[in-house]
Amino acid sequence: MPAQGALLKLEGSPVAEALYAELHAQLAGLTFVPRLHVVRLGEDPASVSYVRLKDRQAKKLGLQSEVTVLPESTSQGELLALIHQLNADQNVDGILVQFPVPKHISPKTVLEAIRPDKDVDGLHPINVGRLWSGEECLESCTPAGVMRLLNHYGFSVAGKEVVIVGRSNLVGKPLAALMLRSDATVTLAHSKTPDLVAVTRRADILVAAAGRAGLIKSSMVRPGAVVVDVGVNRVGEKLVGDVDPGVAHVAGALSPVPGGVGPMTVAMLLSNTVKAAIRRRDASAMV
Ligand code: NAP
Repeated sequence: MPAQGALLKLEGSPVAEALYAELHAQLAGLTFVPRLHVVRLGEDPASVSYVRLKDRQAKKLGLQSEVTVLPESTSQGELLALIHQLNADQNVDGILVQFPVPKHISPKTVLEAIRPDKDVDGLHPINVGRLWSGEECLESCTPAGVMRLLNHYGFSVAGKEVVIVGRSNLVGKPLAALMLRSDATVTLAHSKTPDLVAVTRRADILVAAAGRAGLIKSSMVRPGAVVVDVGVNRVGEKLVGDVDPGVAHVAGALSPVPGGVGPMTVAMLLSNTVKAAIRRRDASAMV
């Protein structure tokens, strides 16, 4: 753990750039260009900006990237028909449907419709099951990004007390699986955890993924702990995390919002796209 008193800022951009450099070198050795296909429904401003960012970064890296924008009124059947078409398309390596989807569409049905070997978000039950079984899989992007961020700054989680606040399928649970695989002792806290302060104060590494601005106060952090802030909350015109700014005076290391985990999520998506492309072609070469 870092020395108390000197706060280390866990910036995501240099870590993402290092990963892009690795991917760039990997792409140079391929005889094909991996292709990502993102589907967005409706005009939710956050989704519009996330999809634009993913598309831009994919192209910057040298991947093929396509975005299909469908109206909010698209039926579940129409969306599933598009997913089946992308599943069957030999030129498409990664498929991502940007969440949230409109209320009349079941997120579960959408996730389960995507071929597991093209599921670059790592959220298909097959990938989730493999993750918990410790098998090779496409890992969920934000949790994988958190692991890489910690690793880059020299923090091993092995043998450490890790507390994750938030137990969603998107962040908390898959992150717990990755932490466990790396030999951490993991606690998942949530909205029904009775004494959250007592739990979070145990953490050598504390991850906030609750989507509640300023939930983690300095009194909840063990001095010198490593704190990763996954939260993204809009407060007025500003984006803030789940961690109160006062935590900077107590923690040994802290990821900023924005600029911490966010860039890692996009980088892991593109890493998954390259991985999926190589694996699928290797698998077909073996037949
Ligand atoms: P979610 O599905 O809403 O889950 C939130 C989790 O936090 C739930 O498990 C909930 O507990 C728990 N929680 C809520 N309030 C709490 C409280 N007061 N005390 C303790 N636990 C509490 O959210 P999510 O999709 O996991 O996302 C979490 C945050 O991460 C959001 O701000 C989201 O925008 C952000 N995010 C960021 C990135 C990125 O790339 N930076 C990517 C994904 C998500 P219950 O289960 O008991 O309800």
